[in-house]
Amino acid sequence: MFGWLFRKTETSMPFKVGEDGRPRPPHFPGLLNAESVTPTDLTRAIEWSIEWTKAEHASVDELFQEAKARLNGAARRKNFKHANSLDMTVRIVRQVAQNNRAFKSRRALPWVVFRTGPQEEPCKAALTSNGALASAEVGFNLPLDGCDQSICKCHTRGITKRELAQTRNDNGWATLQ
Ligand SMILES: [Zn+2]
Repeated sequence: MFGWLFRKTETSMPFKVGEDGRPRPPHFPGLLNAESVTPTDLTRAIEWSIEWTKAEHASVDELFQEAKARLNGAARRKNFKHANSLDMTVRIVRQVAQNNRAFKSRRALPWVVFRTGPQEEPCKAALTSNGALASAEVGFNLPLDGCDQSICKCHTRGITKRELAQTRNDNGWATLQ
């Protein structure tokens, strides 16, 4: 009866666009574990990744079950048609959950560090930010505005006060080596 509530996509809200002209990632307030993403949030993540990877021919329906399986630990399936969109869906859900967890544990781990992914050619935006710190309250909204990759493998992690002390410098925006 309420099936229409879940019908997508032509009427979905457009994504904000960054200065680089690419869609900014969604937020999922309250999501702490990627495996327990709601159908609504997962749908939104897929819509975003389809736009991000410019896979207009892909649909949420094609990606939904596969994304769910991957988030629950299934291995990457060979020859899946929309592999890039699927990868970015999984990445964005995990990243948003991690940002939310970092915010939640901001007292114990007040800072997060940004790292470029294990890519041979990380995006320019990432190169200039590798090792940058942000408060866990604000965090990093990945992919960074200016990312020019299809698959962004950048990530963040919380750092301890002791790690922070090792990075102390004058402007407060330290860089971890
Ligand atoms: Zn990137």
